[in-house]
Amino acid sequence: MDLVSAPSGESSSLKNPVLEVASADVSKAGTATENIAAAKGEVSQSEYETDSDGSGDEWETQSLYEDAIQVLRDEQLREGVPDACTLDEAVAYRKRLHEIGKAAFVEETLGQDTVTAKKLCTAFGILPPAFLDDAPDEAFHPLLAIAISREFSRRPKLPQYNTIDDAVRLLKECKNIVVLTGAGISTSLGIPDFRSKDTGLYSQLAHLGLSDPQEVFDIQVFREDPSIFFSIAKDILPTEKKFSPTHAFIRLLQDKGKLLTNYTQNIDNIEANAGVLPENIVQCHGSFATATCVKCQRKVMGDEIFDEIKKGVIPQCTSCPTIFAEDSGVKRKRNSNGVHRSRKDNDGDSSDDDYEIPTAGVMKPDITFFGEDLPDEFGHRLLHHDRDRVDLVIVIGTSLKVAPVAEVPGVLPRTVPQLYISRTPVSHTEFDIDLLGDCDVVVSELCRRAGWELKHEMIPADEKVEVLPVEGYESRHVFKVVGA
Ligand SMILES: [Zn+2]
Repeated sequence: MDLVSAPSGESSSLKNPVLEVASADVSKAGTATENIAAAKGEVSQSEYETDSDGSGDEWETQSLYEDAIQVLRDEQLREGVPDACTLDEAVAYRKRLHEIGKAAFVEETLGQDTVTAKKLCTAFGILPPAFLDDAPDEAFHPLLAIAISREFSRRPKLPQYNTIDDAVRLLKECKNIVVLTGAGISTSLGIPDFRSKDTGLYSQLAHLGLSDPQEVFDIQVFREDPSIFFSIAKDILPTEKKFSPTHAFIRLLQDKGKLLTNYTQNIDNIEANAGVLPENIVQCHGSFATATCVKCQRKVMGDEIFDEIKKGVIPQCTSCPTIFAEDSGVKRKRNSNGVHRSRKDNDGDSSDDDYEIPTAGVMKPDITFFGEDLPDEFGHRLLHHDRDRVDLVIVIGTSLKVAPVAEVPGVLPRTVPQLYISRTPVSHTEFDIDLLGDCDVVVSELCRRAGWELKHEMIPADEKVEVLPVEGYESRHVFKVVGA
């Protein structure tokens, strides 16, 4: 039985280009569909390719599973589902899987005939499809492989961290904090979340004739017509040297020697305004801080092209023409035994490249477009610098829907506590403590309770914040300003 041979895929997936998580609706249908989608790649290799007997119906089978997978929620298990595990049984199986790993778990269950694959699927929230009702138990193995892979990649919440006091204590005690940030930490400065489809920026793009506003950040579109990007670039260009209280909070962690790495999905480079040191930041989607010539790869500081961007002009490389001139000079010299010949003197042999009129390359800001690889530093730092050091993860102002940044919490050790600070909770990843509200308000209140001084002109000196529990969730809290 080959249920567990698939590679974990962790590190390789970190090299993927920026992709939206394919799940249709993360907030509603929940976690199952997207995780199954993620797991399926692995399963299709182990189950359908290596295990193939050449019958040729693998594709059909796979697509049937895809359509037939039904999510079984814990509430349903609690109420009781015919032929399914009880909720207690399910919890015990999940715990056991995480304890002993995939191979040993399969050996201990199916290998010892202690439970059927059909029933075991239900322990991991998958209801076997009706068309398999009379099938032999082996028919449920591919489904179980999906279920196990999905469960195994899910990080279980640590039960010992729940309250605000727990969060404050973690802040004070931890020394190597990974902070993962998104657009939510810059919105209080009026900077639009340009990747989100709800913003005004995207609605301005209709006149550019794009079928999907995200095409502005599509590398193919940029190569074909850079003017589309530069027509809106001035609107997202960071100009003022301002930063939000949340940026100040990250700087405060740095000052206290607690900031291991700030992975930011933002391209506004505002962390630098707050004084966060470059060596403590990974700009996961690049930034405007530098720009690179698409032709000769020359890199310049971003502000060298800011004036042109602000004017809506396409910035051109100033080195390209020089390089082309030098190149052709060398060739002419070599081709004519040291005798200089100008273009006009040439005998007209058009096969030689150096008679094309050289054009300068476009200077592209080093933000990561859709379809481009993430900066190498991202996966390398995560796996070789942070993974063995991190003692606390704080995710702020991002719904973590964009891969591979979304995978960071899952790649770090499961025993490391994870805090979530944002306006709305996410359901596709489970954090230990959810601190909901305006992230500037949440961090300022956390600092207040920690006895830390977080100075920022946007935080009123006498700000009072009320923290309310969310009914039904032990570890979810809402922060509200109750008067200043
Ligand atoms: Zn160039």
